[in-house]
Amino acid sequence: MIEPPSLERLIIEFSGFPGIGKKTARRLAYHVLSKSKEKAVAFSEALLDAVEKVRPCSKCFSYAEQSLCDICKKRSGASSLCVVEKTSDILPFESSGVFQGLYFVLGGVLSPLDGVGPEHLHIPYLIERVQKENIQEVILALGSSPEAESTVLLIDRLLKDMPVKRSRLARGIPMGSDLEFVDEMTMLRAFEGRVLF
Ligand SMILES: [Zn+2]
Repeated sequence: MIEPPSLERLIIEFSGFPGIGKKTARRLAYHVLSKSKEKAVAFSEALLDAVEKVRPCSKCFSYAEQSLCDICKKRSGASSLCVVEKTSDILPFESSGVFQGLYFVLGGVLSPLDGVGPEHLHIPYLIERVQKENIQEVILALGSSPEAESTVLLIDRLLKDMPVKRSRLARGIPMGSDLEFVDEMTMLRAFEGRVLF
């Protein structure tokens, strides 16, 4: 089907979202245009607003509008730090209510094939945070892929000589599954059954 260039561009942009194929992208683009112009403009303004205002928290690299995110502000002084790969991985912890401590977003996991080395992750900031704050336990919640596994081993090695407990989630999270989609019950079990190094 031949679409006007601007509509075609919108479809291409939508198809860049995760899990959105060309068909769904087209449906979304048509939906936007079939709504009132005000609604479409409000949508684009919300998008721009979020892109302009949201930035990484200066302590944990999660999303924030100010220098610190809400969790770092409200739970400052907490003694447990949960290390996750990406910001959305915080969601199952918060929705299950299993964890009341602080988080740290690593920004990825080691992946030599994709050219991701330790220098691309926030590891030095993590070490600094553990040194400076009153952290008693670091929970490594990085999933179960081989890449996550080698990242856990590297961080464990770096923290080894520091006076801090190191633990990881219990097995039970399906191999290779994305932490952000883990259901509350599975998260609860994985967290409660976490094992010390
Ligand atoms: Zn934060």
